[in-house]
Amino acid sequence: MRVVLVTMALRVPTDPSHWITVPPQGYAGIHWIVANHMDGLLELGHEVFLLGAPGTEPVSPAVTVVDAGEIEDMHAWLNSSEASVVDVVHDFSCGQIDPDRIPKNMAYLSTHHLTGKPKYPRNCVYASYAQRAQAENDVAPVVRISVNRARYPFQAQKDDYLLYLGRISEWKGTYEAAAFASAAGRRLIVAGPSWEENYLARIRRDFGETLDLVGEVGGERRLDLIARATAMMVLSQSTMGPWGVVWCEPGSTVVSEAAVCGTPVIGTSNGCLAEIVPGVGAVVPEGSDFTTEQARDVVAGLPEPGSVHATAVRQWDYVVVAKEFETIYHDVLAGRSWT
Ligand code: UDP
Repeated sequence: MRVVLVTMALRVPTDPSHWITVPPQGYAGIHWIVANHMDGLLELGHEVFLLGAPGTEPVSPAVTVVDAGEIEDMHAWLNSSEASVVDVVHDFSCGQIDPDRIPKNMAYLSTHHLTGKPKYPRNCVYASYAQRAQAENDVAPVVRISVNRARYPFQAQKDDYLLYLGRISEWKGTYEAAAFASAAGRRLIVAGPSWEENYLARIRRDFGETLDLVGEVGGERRLDLIARATAMMVLSQSTMGPWGVVWCEPGSTVVSEAAVCGTPVIGTSNGCLAEIVPGVGAVVPEGSDFTTEQARDVVAGLPEPGSVHATAVRQWDYVVVAKEFETIYHDVLAGRSWT
């Protein structure tokens, strides 16, 4: 099949003359999701056109990187003669592409990666049942975020630190992760961008002594931090997010990334986490009231790296998940449609 993967087109915040690529240079969940899914489609022998990430280095001759990042340019390309060979458009852009503006003969589906309702619900796939329920939908397919084990190193021996990897924000629970680490007597390494100064200042004030802020990370440094951590902290909170709805963790890229490295996850039960953390880690309550005993017990009871890795591969392997999407592509090509 010839598949167009549309990523969310975003410019690099520190260098707006460049687009975020697939995989991304730094923080960017959707671009990692697209990278892993593209690996899976290639493994199954499909041809991929990548839209929304100009400047990406193609990983194979079967990948065409389309030079279109502006929303108008993406629509124009989808309607061009170059795109006339395409079978399916799989849209991860979360609303940048209007499905009514692509040719009628192209099969179309999207995957939602935000919290709340998708802008265009037609043929939308969700990353968790919780995300789908929040969108008030109970018929759409649910397909998990996949991970390509070849992109992530497995490490059996862990260091003492706990890791927070993501945007430093209230709904992602960076404060609560710092509270947990402090209660457990562990250092918390916090990697990721910070766009809310007051929030960061509060974390520093209350837990500065056990905190190690390393900023946004990419490349080998990111992989090394994930692989050596005692656990990945994903303490997402049911707080009002920036999109006017209570935060419901949609799919959580870092869970499968950590798990495939053999790094267990400590998560809340917010959104998808209740569905995906059991088996690869421990679920703890929302909030920041952790006693030392409770936090230490959680860390002591974490599953072994080997079993965490095996569970990640069994549940979220990039080829297994690509096959699930392949079936949905065939369904859509055969005329199936849902909202
Ligand atoms: N990430 C990264 N560098 C950082 C912080 C995060 O590469 O400094 C990546 C992380 O590995 C993951 C993504 O950014 O792939 C965050 O995605 P997730 O779904 O966990 O969070 P969200 O997209 O909701 O912010």
